[in-house]
Amino acid sequence: MKRLFLASAVCMLASTTVFAGVTEEDIANDATITSQVVTNGMGRHLQRFSPLKSINKDNVKHLVPAWSFSMGGEKQRGNEAQPLIYDGVMYVTGSYSRLYAIDVKTGEEIWQYNARLPEGILPCCDVVNRGAAIYGDTIIFGTLDARLVGLNRKTGDVVWKDKIANYKAGYSYTAAPIIVNGLVITGNSGGEFGIVGEVQARKAETGELVWTRPVIEGHMGTLNGKDSTMTGTLNATWPGDMWKNGGGATWLGGSYDADTGMLVFGAGNPAPWNSWLRDAGSKDDGKGDNLYAASRIGIDPANGEIKWHYQTTPREGWDYDGVNEVIPFVDKDGNKRYATADRNGFFYVLDRKDGGFVSASPFVKNITWAKGIDEKTGRPIWNEDNRPGDPKDAADGGKGKVVFSVPSFLGGKNWMPMAHSPDTGLFYVPSNEWGMDIWNEPVSYKEGAAYLGSGFTIKPIFDDYIGSLKAIDPNTGKTVWEYKNDAPLWAGVMATAGDLVFTGTPEGYLKAFDAKTGKELWKFQTGSGVVGQPITWDQDGEQFVAVASGWGGAVPLWGGEVAKKVSYLNQGGSIWVFKIPQMLSSK
Ligand code: CA
Repeated sequence: MKRLFLASAVCMLASTTVFAGVTEEDIANDATITSQVVTNGMGRHLQRFSPLKSINKDNVKHLVPAWSFSMGGEKQRGNEAQPLIYDGVMYVTGSYSRLYAIDVKTGEEIWQYNARLPEGILPCCDVVNRGAAIYGDTIIFGTLDARLVGLNRKTGDVVWKDKIANYKAGYSYTAAPIIVNGLVITGNSGGEFGIVGEVQARKAETGELVWTRPVIEGHMGTLNGKDSTMTGTLNATWPGDMWKNGGGATWLGGSYDADTGMLVFGAGNPAPWNSWLRDAGSKDDGKGDNLYAASRIGIDPANGEIKWHYQTTPREGWDYDGVNEVIPFVDKDGNKRYATADRNGFFYVLDRKDGGFVSASPFVKNITWAKGIDEKTGRPIWNEDNRPGDPKDAADGGKGKVVFSVPSFLGGKNWMPMAHSPDTGLFYVPSNEWGMDIWNEPVSYKEGAAYLGSGFTIKPIFDDYIGSLKAIDPNTGKTVWEYKNDAPLWAGVMATAGDLVFTGTPEGYLKAFDAKTGKELWKFQTGSGVVGQPITWDQDGEQFVAVASGWGGAVPLWGGEVAKKVSYLNQGGSIWVFKIPQMLSSK
């Protein structure tokens, strides 16, 4: 009854306003329309910057909860989602493939969709979901069994469903889809199971598949149901049949650069992790580069053709996935550039025309696997002796030489998105300072089984902190300020024109910092670790800030000694929305 009543209340609300749902124009202008948030990244360029400044560095101390919403039930675990705001409703995904529509004024639930997940799903790194996409009146999100679901945004009723890939073979899905010219575009997850990374485009209104683009060389793409072109050149950078289960999961989704008309997706680690099995071990002759794993890729949204690539970690051997988000910005000389902070510990600036290398600088300390990035070629200058050893060299053919590598495989930066403020010109990067013992082992591919050929133990490298929020000047690669956190940072970052930077901590806080100096100005304890992505919007003249709370993600599952160090953290599952009471907003 409650559900029916609320649904009719929404219809009454709807009848008083004229809307045809989210348009291409809404999506294209999301970064500047402050009354709604209809894209992942708070705008297609993923800058996570809001021009709002009613909440600013002078009054943020007065920020208090407006409402909180429990995601309920026994299903807790990590809440990594970015909420969307449209037409008075917050749409937010939860752990275990759930989606909630919440009245943004009251915090009351309008509807919820709970995907029925089969037994035997294989998510590598917690049962998270990072968000949904809206087009027209359809809200679309992906589920842990590698499906896409389109729901009527007013009722939560299923409009269409489609399968991305077979979950039994290790495929899953966790990223926020993107919408470009009426297409919904998605990646896939499962790089630890020897799946093949792919980007797919469907008609957002019907779910009809338009094109597919595998990102590992040798695999065939499709367009309108027919074979299109092969990715790369067969066996150019992969030995034998290893490309067939070559990984490169496009698990963090992608973005659309409206200026160049190009999709930009990242591809994760080549599979298996043991680089010697992929010819990537001994020689730097290009034959073991394993394209397009550990790369950023520019893709034509009309037909799925790859137009450019830049590989951050050729000959990858540490699980340095190349999936991190790519953010367009303008440098000090007025050049249109991309910035991306890679799992391998380097902050890259690329050319937006073709993804060409411009510069790279380390953003975490004590990197072991490379001395730096060659300024001319953009290739790493390897420390070959920091590559985990070939098991074939071990006396019994078992475990290869163990090395201690920095960053750990969870990365100088993992999935959690950075923000860029055009006001300060800085990037705000949620990074972690940690390392790992890593070694290689023999492995062969078996469908649905882990395909690593590696073992590992993650360890802190400093006594007093792991997490490090850094403000980085992309013109110099230098860190302008740094905030150190005891536990590893795992939440998204947001910057605002109010000279503020927001992010969350596993210790449970949502925090606000001065964007210029890094001074902590405000914090609020949400009751569980914050690994979600903050957003802000204005409604009826007031600015709101929201974030999901709920500790989880990859750290408790894979963090080794770090996981033990933070095992005291409590799980949860809630949304928090904040505002400044009107009487205090000018104080
Ligand atoms: Ca990986």
